[in-house]
Amino acid sequence: MGYIHCCGGLRKTRSFMIAPRQGFVVCELDYLKKCPICGNFVIQFTRVTENNEMKVSRYINKSAVKFWDKIKSKIIYEEKFIDYSKPSKGTFYLNYNEFGIKKRCYSNLSNLKIGLNSTY
Ligand SMILES: [Zn+2]
Repeated sequence: MGYIHCCGGLRKTRSFMIAPRQGFVVCELDYLKKCPICGNFVIQFTRVTENNEMKVSRYINKSAVKFWDKIKSKIIYEEKFIDYSKPSKGTFYLNYNEFGIKKRCYSNLSNLKIGLNSTY
């Protein structure tokens, strides 16, 4: 998702893909470290079942910390979104149609082993 609704607005979050349990096809977690208005730590857990039903759970502060401790070992990867909220040279409206669909391909550069120095 990349956003959590809190205090009458959408707050940008970090998003993580979670290994789905049996019966679910997608598990996604949105992580809002601190809402700029209320200061709450909010986690929203979105799951889609095999029957295409969406289930959303929300955890705040203490329960969010508890849930995070439980779920973080099941994270597959962090999602990276292109920020379409920043307009660029008139292409903003074109891009807007695909908001939330286009995701940046993310590759882990630390896996690259180019020019390893053998003197170490
Ligand atoms: Zn809030």
